[in-house]
Amino acid sequence: MQFNTYTVAGAHIAVWLVNHPSPDAPSLAAALARYDVHQPAPAAGDARSLTPWAGRLRGVFEAGTVAEKAERADALLVAADCRPRLVSHGAGLPFHFHYAPVRTGLPARVKALTAAGVAHVIDGGGGSRLRACGRPGCGIVFLDTSRNGRRHFCSVRCANQVNVASHRLRRRQAHAGQR
Ligand SMILES: [Zn+2]
Ligand SMILES: [Zn+2]
Repeated sequence: MQFNTYTVAGAHIAVWLVNHPSPDAPSLAAALARYDVHQPAPAAGDARSLTPWAGRLRGVFEAGTVAEKAERADALLVAADCRPRLVSHGAGLPFHFHYAPVRTGLPARVKALTAAGVAHVIDGGGGSRLRACGRPGCGIVFLDTSRNGRRHFCSVRCANQVNVASHRLRRRQAHAGQR
């Protein structure tokens, strides 16, 4: 699966939004611009209005099975009124999907784009790569773009903390077994 396409950009934006559920306008605009979203500047109140949506997106990453992720992502496609259209911004410029018309406003477009993004990852067979960090209490979500798809932590720091903790636990159990 390719993770750098404009189509999957929606999944990367979903990750960003779940990890920044109450964004301010400038950081939302910067995050969207990073993925070439058309007219990324939010109007007043747009950024904060996405907080409940970030919570619903989180549900996709935290679902235990791919079937559950798919069910939740499918519900988001409906909730976002996702209607893919092929758009070009001028003669000779490339055609690409818009998932909601520009005139519907930024929050509606972000909802449609992120719903489509996670849905495309699932459609591409990568549903299990939509993950929440394996360290209890961390809460950061990510799209596992590693080759083998076995990344279970958001960062080396979280991986180390869990490894140290389970190493200590094993050592305690081994000592307990000797008594
Ligand atoms: Zn466009
Ligand atoms: Zn983590």
